[in-house]
Amino acid sequence: MRSLRWLVLGTAMVSLILIWIVREQSRFQELRYDQLKAALEDGRVREIEIGNQQAVGTLTDGTGFFTNLPDRYDDLQRLVERKGVPLRYRRTLINAAAWQGLLTSLLLLAIFVGVLIFFWRQMQVGNQQAFNFAKSRARRYDHSQPKITFDDVADLEEAKEELREVIDFLKNPQRFQALGAKVPKGVLLMGPPGCGKTLLARAFAGEAGVPFFHISGSEFVEMFVGVGAARVRDLFEQAKAQRPCVLFMDELDAVGRLRFAGIGGGHDEREQTLNQLLAEMDGMEQNSGIVVISATNRPDVLDPALLRPGRFDRRIVIDNPDAKGREAILRVHLRGKPLADDVDIEKLAKQTAGFSGADLANMVNEAAILAARKAQDKLTMTDLLEALEKVIAGPERKSRLLTEREKKILAYHESGHALLGKLLGVREVTKVTIIPRGLALGYTLHLPQEDRYLMTKQEILDEMTVALGGRASEELVFGEVTTGAHNDLERVTELARRMVCEYGMSERLGPVTLGKKAGPIFLGRDIVEDRNYSEEIASEIDKEVRRTVEECYQRAMDILKSHRQALEMLAARLLEKETIDGEEVDEILKRAGVTSQRDGKRAGGSKDGQESSVRQSDG
Ligand code: ADP
Ligand code: MG
Ligand code: ZN
Repeated sequence: MRSLRWLVLGTAMVSLILIWIVREQSRFQELRYDQLKAALEDGRVREIEIGNQQAVGTLTDGTGFFTNLPDRYDDLQRLVERKGVPLRYRRTLINAAAWQGLLTSLLLLAIFVGVLIFFWRQMQVGNQQAFNFAKSRARRYDHSQPKITFDDVADLEEAKEELREVIDFLKNPQRFQALGAKVPKGVLLMGPPGCGKTLLARAFAGEAGVPFFHISGSEFVEMFVGVGAARVRDLFEQAKAQRPCVLFMDELDAVGRLRFAGIGGGHDEREQTLNQLLAEMDGMEQNSGIVVISATNRPDVLDPALLRPGRFDRRIVIDNPDAKGREAILRVHLRGKPLADDVDIEKLAKQTAGFSGADLANMVNEAAILAARKAQDKLTMTDLLEALEKVIAGPERKSRLLTEREKKILAYHESGHALLGKLLGVREVTKVTIIPRGLALGYTLHLPQEDRYLMTKQEILDEMTVALGGRASEELVFGEVTTGAHNDLERVTELARRMVCEYGMSERLGPVTLGKKAGPIFLGRDIVEDRNYSEEIASEIDKEVRRTVEECYQRAMDILKSHRQALEMLAARLLEKETIDGEEVDEILKRAGVTSQRDGKRAGGSKDGQESSVRQSDG
């Protein structure tokens, strides 16, 4: 924007000059022709110049004057001669008007030139950008940034091991060549969002000690066809110049999507980019000293060509952490933060089943913010638990006003979940609240006591029963149901469908898998389920699902009916206090003469099922 500054400066200068001229001119007074003649007559004129239909001169008192002359002014000339006033003739006497005109046009010219220069400069910058378009924009890993190492990555031991091997390849290629081993060209990290893929790659950069180029797939995809391909070419060019080195391509799915898959025949630009990428990877010799590492959370949408041998032939699957992993991740993130004595990391790890590494990092950060807001000098367990809820369900929204009746319905709904949860012992009920949080109006926090990889049929049925408890309670008490339960119903239906179709738990349909799902759940292919069964079976499935859900609902209803008093007491307390914790629930149940049948029984979400560790009753 320097040219703009010059333009402003120039305009200001010209205006100043103009103002000065005008002021100069105002020192000249205008005399009419007859006034001038009178002045001559009186001998008040010291000197005079004539020309161009104008007379300019000075009076004896020193002031200047000018006069516009008529067509003929012989009498004036004669008068001047007679009086002996010094006279000069000028061919082109530039008069004030001419001056002004000239200056105005000069000013306009200046502005015009300024604008021209400005645009020209812009154009030049644009040109440079146009040339830069094809540059890859890869950022070379900057070693001046605080170094992230494998120590900052908790868990993920296998992945780290694989990557250490890659470092080995790069540093001692001879050793592998001597044995005729082919060094992998590409490593693909696959895993759900937030599991630490990018973090792992950054740590790798910190450890590898070789140049490390980092680029995100989305940066390849530009508006103009061909740019992405040019960038890929440039990226590999850069890499070749600096080998041995590592190229990290984050979010590969942005470029590497299945070709021809888009609406209207696919995305030309992306296709070209992908083709170029494939060509470059093929063109790399086996031991060229370049390793391409890529990360994606959608390996299912990747073009199969990318996964063929000789390209990304090493694949590392990263999953969300288990309890041990979560503990390790929490320790990494709590490292260096002042902790109160009551903080029990192990317990937190157990209560966060289903959290990704990013969720855990987020939770610790939220806790730190909460503690700071309360001006504490240490992080307490309370902060961490509060943060946990916040991460699961969003922040509390105390401002959301519920009518008395809504509150009452909500209280019964949540009490239904809590009571059944306690009675069936599916999960540990740690908190029941009717304070809206996030999108939910109220919820019952059920935390699994540990990760589960296997669930029995009975446990799934229990889960479903608890989930239906809210709606059953509403019906029991108010004789009608509200929209508040739709989240519960969604979950229940999903569970029932899984029982029938995936787990083969239906007696009527038998132990078969109906419909085929490819790959782990996070791949997101659920939607395009292959149907390998007939219409008849489909309607059987629907019937089975319906029957299972209805049975669970009936069961929930029966249990609630036989524990009506406990339900009433819970709801009353909830209405009064809005939030009650697990121990208080126990205490109320005890007073109502109820003992939970399966107290302390372990339960929780199955590993591949995506059921969250919390149940939100309202959406
Ligand atoms: P993605 O797999 O989506 O690329 P990121 O690598 O960006 O996930 O992870 C997001 C954040 O989550 C990281 O910056 C880090 O703070 C945290 N995180 C995830 N996994 C781990 C882990 N294994 N150890 C420590 N922190 C982790
Ligand atoms: Mg990432
Ligand atoms: Zn509910």
